[in-house]
Amino acid sequence: MTAKRIDGKAFAATVRGQVAEHVARLKAERDLVPGLAVVLVGEDPASEVYVRNKGKQTLEVGMNSYEHKLPADTAEADLLALIARLNADPAVHGILVQLPLPGHLNSDLVINAIDPAKDVDGFHISNVGLLGTGQKSMVPCTPLGCLMMLRDHLGSLSGKNAVVVGRSNIVGKPMAQLLLNDSCTVTIAHSRTADLPAVCRGADILIAAVGRPEMIPGDWVKPGATVIDVGINRVERDGKMRLVGDVDFASASAVAGAITPVPGGVGPMTIACLLANTLTACCRANGLPEPD
Ligand code: NDP
Repeated sequence: MTAKRIDGKAFAATVRGQVAEHVARLKAERDLVPGLAVVLVGEDPASEVYVRNKGKQTLEVGMNSYEHKLPADTAEADLLALIARLNADPAVHGILVQLPLPGHLNSDLVINAIDPAKDVDGFHISNVGLLGTGQKSMVPCTPLGCLMMLRDHLGSLSGKNAVVVGRSNIVGKPMAQLLLNDSCTVTIAHSRTADLPAVCRGADILIAAVGRPEMIPGDWVKPGATVIDVGINRVERDGKMRLVGDVDFASASAVAGAITPVPGGVGPMTIACLLANTLTACCRANGLPEPD
């Protein structure tokens, strides 16, 4: 069997197109432009690339983009003061603080200082609680993108056995929660899981969010399973730097029913969902109907 390749790049382009149409309508009918503020502290090269891409795509869908680049030694009080200003600014509907933050800054404190209604990353403790209790919230972008691809490919997820490998607050846990909310039977695996290969082999839906290059081989995959590879790992192959996922794409695609590639799978969907969340936040802030 050769798995269907789930094209996150094309799907993300469709989502961005829908967001752009909605933004154009808001502009024409209400003179309203959604705004996304991205805060980057320090000079982590990978974070700089992400922030640049986010800013570029925000402008491309017709939204306003506000970038705040702060030096690595920024005091916590100064960062909190900036967040307070962004919270109070009616032109800013979404606020994202790029993680990881330099070690002297308390990420929990900083994230929880963001107005939950503007927390387009969905990491504020209020949004985590709302998601956990099945209430309307801001949903973290990467897991939301995975869920959209799964629904698009499988239709109903009800009753499926889902295994999420990884239990981070930004990917694994919210992913598991979303799958549970969609009536999957969910297992969360992690570094202490006993017999991980056997756990993975039970998955109709296998989500890999580990950060270890090509850790999951094809013989851990149930025949016909849908595999979503969240991992982004930089490795050297034949003298060149390449991006690979947490799943060994070649062997897994010989067994799976469908699989996301790296790059071109989850990554593009993450930014598309960030833009969709910013639009949602703008609509909510203005008492307007939310996008579908
Ligand atoms: P974290 O490092 O925060 O979490 C990794 C998780 O993997 C932990 O729960 C850890 O378990 C688990 N793990 C580590 N080693 C093993 C192992 N040998 N067996 C089983 N589980 C293991 O990473 P993130 O969740 O932030 O990110 C995961 C990956 O996803 C990374 O490659 C990251 O780059 C990528 N990513 C991609 C995004 C995208 O847009 N496509 C967005 C965000 C992340 P334990 O808790 O026990 O330590």
